[in-house]
Amino acid sequence: METDQSATIASLIRHAKNLLHSIDSAHLDSELLLAHVLGVDRSWLFARPTSRCTSEQKDSYLRLIQRRASGEPFAYLVNQQPFWEDEFFVSEGALIPRPDTERLIEIVLAAFGDEPKTVLDLGTGSGCIAVSLAKARPSWSVYASDLESDALAVAKKNSKATPNCTLIQSDWLKAIRPSSVDVIVSNPPYIAPGDPHLADLSFEPQRALVAEQNGYSAYTAILRDAHSVLTPSGTLVFEHGYEQQAELTTMVEAAGFSAVGYMDLSGLPRVLVGTRS
Ligand code: GLN
Repeated sequence: METDQSATIASLIRHAKNLLHSIDSAHLDSELLLAHVLGVDRSWLFARPTSRCTSEQKDSYLRLIQRRASGEPFAYLVNQQPFWEDEFFVSEGALIPRPDTERLIEIVLAAFGDEPKTVLDLGTGSGCIAVSLAKARPSWSVYASDLESDALAVAKKNSKATPNCTLIQSDWLKAIRPSSVDVIVSNPPYIAPGDPHLADLSFEPQRALVAEQNGYSAYTAILRDAHSVLTPSGTLVFEHGYEQQAELTTMVEAAGFSAVGYMDLSGLPRVLVGTRS
């Protein structure tokens, strides 16, 4: 294999850190991206600072560093993101799984045991919610739904080893049969158009983040049909923005549910559970 005489591991990492100087995680990202390109772990790099890379490896690495320097999220560069108990495949077709959403998984698993259930994840994106629930509860039938084919392609990769997770294409609840679902879960788009947070999220699909009606349009669409799709003792579980719990509680109660709110791991209101009343 041809080696590039100018590129030792230590010199490449030094160069990359300079290119990433405006990013807080420059140090870590430089090392992890080189480890990714070389197919090794980080400790391998530390043990061999004077080893040389091939010119192909150097070029691939510097291409990834350029993308990171332009603000592209780390997860999209390595096509992977940890969530709950697994590594999920991620690409631009779906939102990157967030630690906040693990709270929703905790709440659902604490509320329901092993008895068979039909669970529907609306706006599944990468499929991280549906797959995590299906793996934790093999007796459940979990349906992962999205309107977008790009998102379903990502979810398909993530769900292929999980036989009790089935993908469906649906515009929220339009393709779902009446009285067929025990639990609806959803992390829908909930950011208001023009919200300043969106500036940091420009690489992710905006349709997975932004909702009309000041961030509430997806909840409105789901709540319109939730009562008819759920079984008589059915439950819905929503992730929401940290300032949305009061208004969403009003909406969920107006749709015929009693509502209980939960905090996320940073102590912010983040999840709402509605039970048919
Ligand atoms: N929690 C995400 C964020 O603020 C947004 C997720 C969503 O809109 N569903 O980055």
